Amino acid sequence: MAGLVIANWKMHGSLALIAEFSQQWRGLPQLSKVDVVLCPPAPYLGAVSEAFEGLLLGAQNCAEQVEGAFTGEVASQMLAELGCHYIIIGHSERRSLHGETDAQVAIKARLAAAEGLHPVVCVGEALEQREAGEQDEVVSEQLLGSLAHVPCDRLVVAYEPIWAIGTGHTATPGQAEAMHGLIRRRLQEHYGAAGAGIPIIYGGSVKPENAGVLFGCDNIDGALVGGASLDAKSFWQIASAASAGRA
Ligand code: PEP
Repeated sequence: MAGLVIANWKMHGSLALIAEFSQQWRGLPQLSKVDVVLCPPAPYLGAVSEAFEGLLLGAQNCAEQVEGAFTGEVASQMLAELGCHYIIIGHSERRSLHGETDAQVAIKARLAAAEGLHPVVCVGEALEQREAGEQDEVVSEQLLGSLAHVPCDRLVVAYEPIWAIGTGHTATPGQAEAMHGLIRRRLQEHYGAAGAGIPIIYGGSVKPENAGVLFGCDNIDGALVGGASLDAKSFWQIASAASAGRA
């Protein structure tokens, strides 16, 4: 399987950043054996799709309805029409700041999949839960709740320990691989043999300096990158590390 590296720009960026980033990106060597996805804020999807070749487009969220009187919401069908291939769903910031539940995440993931998009379903434990040794139960429960009736053919799972997001404290390769192995087992229990082929990517302070060792782990298929994805060179270095060693 090719590596998968997804940029989550969150609520950062501007038309000027897109122009600068795309100019720098064009000057960097083309990458193979890795799918590179850019998820800008929704108003910039059009500008990003025009500015880049060879990068896939993604969104950061979608509505849990198909259409209707839902002011401010964006339907997965609209995102598909704009050329999105991926949608980040259930990011910890959506779960904590907007109270998104596992059931809502599952609805969004089903809608995204029905539109032919790849739902990138995020799970991860908080610091207190890890300190209490509860991470395996927390992540297993979140995962199964978030995948209820979600088909597996386009699914991507992102393990993002909350304590590693935007903090500069990345999980050690051992911690990340242990959790990815657990997620792999849960996916196989849930989907049978097909669970072996679902990409599981890691997110949480991934940088050019730590990407290579993380991608060297058996069950880490790529990364969801926040802060470091705002800099073209850093993001390219991470994507390049993900492509290294891929068949
Ligand atoms: C994220 O927001 O999904 C993320 C992983 O952020 P960062 O890389 O900045 O920790």
